[in-house]
Amino acid sequence: MLPTPIGPAVETLIRIDARAADKEDAIRQAGQLLVAAGCVVPGYEDSMIRREQVANTYLGSGVAIPHGTGEDKGLVRGDGIVVLQFVDGIEWNPGQVAHLVVGIAAGSDSHIAILRRLTRLIQNEPRLRELIATRDPEVIAAALRDEAPAPAASDAAEDYPERIEWIVDYPAGLHARPASTWSETAKSAGSPLRVRHGGEAADPRSLVALLQLGLKAGDTIVISAAGANARAALERFHGVVTRLTVQEKADAARAAEKAEAAARKGPLKGWTPAGTPRLISGVAASPGLAIGKIHILAAAEADVPDEPVDLVTGGALLNGALVRTRAQMAGLIDDTTRRLGAGDAAIFIAQAGLLEDTDLITLTCQIMVEGHGVAWSWHQAVEQMAAKLSSLGNPVLAARAADLRDVGRRVLAQIDPDLGTGTLDDLPEEPCILVAGDLSPSDTATLDISRVAGIATALGGPTSHSAILARTLGLPSVVAGGPGLLALPPGATAIVDGDTGRVWLDPTAADLDSARAWLADRARLRAAEEEKRANPAETTDGHRVAIGANVNRPDQVAFCLSQGAEGVGLMRTEFLFLERGETPSEDEQYTVYREMIAALGDRPLIVRTLDIGGDKQVPHLDLPHEDNPFLGVRGARLLLRRPDLLDPQLRALYRAAKAGGELLIMFPMITSVPELLALRQRCEAIRVELGAPVVPVGIMVEVPAAAVQAHILAEHADFFSIGTNDLTQYTLAIDRQNPELASEADSLHPAVLNLIAQTVAGARRHGRWVGVCGGLAGDPFGAALLTGLGVDELSMTPRDIPAVKARIRGTDLATLRALAARALEAGTPDAVRALDGAPDGKTV
Ligand code: PEP
Ligand code: MG
Repeated sequence: MLPTPIGPAVETLIRIDARAADKEDAIRQAGQLLVAAGCVVPGYEDSMIRREQVANTYLGSGVAIPHGTGEDKGLVRGDGIVVLQFVDGIEWNPGQVAHLVVGIAAGSDSHIAILRRLTRLIQNEPRLRELIATRDPEVIAAALRDEAPAPAASDAAEDYPERIEWIVDYPAGLHARPASTWSETAKSAGSPLRVRHGGEAADPRSLVALLQLGLKAGDTIVISAAGANARAALERFHGVVTRLTVQEKADAARAAEKAEAAARKGPLKGWTPAGTPRLISGVAASPGLAIGKIHILAAAEADVPDEPVDLVTGGALLNGALVRTRAQMAGLIDDTTRRLGAGDAAIFIAQAGLLEDTDLITLTCQIMVEGHGVAWSWHQAVEQMAAKLSSLGNPVLAARAADLRDVGRRVLAQIDPDLGTGTLDDLPEEPCILVAGDLSPSDTATLDISRVAGIATALGGPTSHSAILARTLGLPSVVAGGPGLLALPPGATAIVDGDTGRVWLDPTAADLDSARAWLADRARLRAAEEEKRANPAETTDGHRVAIGANVNRPDQVAFCLSQGAEGVGLMRTEFLFLERGETPSEDEQYTVYREMIAALGDRPLIVRTLDIGGDKQVPHLDLPHEDNPFLGVRGARLLLRRPDLLDPQLRALYRAAKAGGELLIMFPMITSVPELLALRQRCEAIRVELGAPVVPVGIMVEVPAAAVQAHILAEHADFFSIGTNDLTQYTLAIDRQNPELASEADSLHPAVLNLIAQTVAGARRHGRWVGVCGGLAGDPFGAALLTGLGVDELSMTPRDIPAVKARIRGTDLATLRALAARALEAGTPDAVRALDGAPDGKTV
């Protein structure tokens, strides 16, 4: 439906480099052009202004579409559009600047067709930029006249004049990663390109259209190009296509090597099947064996309501959601590049590419135009396309369908936040094996553990907070299993072995029986340890180590005490911020601290102040982007910059202390004396103001600088608690979440142990006590070693307490000291581990 007026007198309908005093002036000018063109009668301009008062006609991307109100349709004599081009833009609404003002006169619903065309145009940024800059009205007229359908999934199977034949030599076929490069290249080619396989053709700008070709290694395709620079564009595109071959072959070889290495791995401790079920190897993150049916988080069905809105609102909603999702994906790509490398981040680059897919967006608009709501239309479009991809019978494309649904979910959550969160609530009744790309700490923290037997994630690392939470929750967990996990059939039976980092699929009945028997054996051993869990951790010669629990919520206290905890050695308060979705007020924090103290009776509670940054991101705090969050403004550094976070927390803590109980305050990520002094000063000022009692103020030692300077810091800190998770990552320069390096981020590394020894020695100079609240404290052998190094307190996940206590009770201090001395001299973590049950017969 191109307006008849455009054609004979384009210049009278399209005003290049227009000038207007303001938005109203611009709308009136557009109205006058429509009157002059004979599309409307005078008075329509007023109707356009009235419309503006009840609806926003800014479509997005610098395009506004003023038009008259529904009641004034009688003023329209014929369908038509006019365009005012504002090169410098004109403010339409605060923050919205229009460069192309498209005045619409439409008697029927025909302006929807114009909107569709404009929506498509908005997706094509280079084209839009061209229209905003051009001095030639015909260029704009041509763009609006362009009735060519959006690139279809399978275009007409004819080649353009310039053509090249190519045999696909990517071992995994044309999967999303190379396809997204093709698509990017095609978008910037400047000439129309087409890829044809047999009778099926695709516009390579569309990622989905490319994937729908289902190209496998060995398929012959024809790539063709049209237009003035067709040959050059074709050769450039072909060059990109063929250069990817080397990378694709190298990736395939690496994947094969990994699979072979996993298969070659010798017998590991833990349960081993007698049969040969399919195996996916990852990294052990939380011990134990879990049996259940697979539930894939990304594939969860969303119940999307159909709530139609007018098209302009709908277009803006969709556009906003896409923009925000793109920003979110950019963050994810950046984070994954840092953690896993560019190769793995490409998965998300390909996913982000789906957001640009013209087929997908056009289909969504088409469904919206039929009168459906934005979220519903988007969901339908995603499902229709994903179903097409799945139905091609190609496992690579089926996995892309999962990507499409994953991205789809992100966009849905941006359209309506309620639609993004429901998935974890949809867990099956029977405890399942929860499979996910990655789980955020807040996802893990809020899991309904009666419905989850175990967790397997494609990404993540064993010292991530999600893994720590999984251990707290007692959920066997494997991380860094790779994207193959996400392609597993939902509902299939799997066994997650959190001790060895393996996921077994479709085990035989005999293997299931043996896994259950293994679980029963473990339970018996645990029962024996648990019987004595209330006894202190005291060596045979009477040296006692204090045992604390790492718990964050009052309702977890009873359980930790039942496991033998003598207090809380680490309450991570960031979870208060993560779980609520908003910053908790001073009063809210006070209530939680009081509940913790009340639940503990007269036992000590060590509260660590907010430790945000690294893998603990709190979206509602809107912190600036960090290139290296683990090395950035995190922990104490953030607190010192944000009194709005620090002061209410300290006030809540001192008020809680004033009301009684044994409260200790601990600051995270301390690197230097001035930081500690500044924080102590704040504590003292607030304490005096509130008339609260003096409470011990300690620090986490989790940065090598703090360990090396422990003898100096000890003068100003009442106690130390060593965070071995971070101390290991910073000492070994290994991101604690990097699955590739996960097995090397070993807290038993002698370098880490030497820093712990140095910390203890520094603390002794000022008579301070030293605890350990990182993961090493919960490992029975690690706990024995730490006791030998002189650590006074060990704080851990409650479930680890009985085994740690049993280990310490089974030996004497002299043996532990000797063990520690040998460990400090060892060259590698393996050499340290070999001391476990050393040949001198003194098993520790
Ligand atoms: C640690 O780093 O060991 C620690 C206990 O702190 P978090 O794991 O919360 O960073
Ligand atoms: Mg830490």
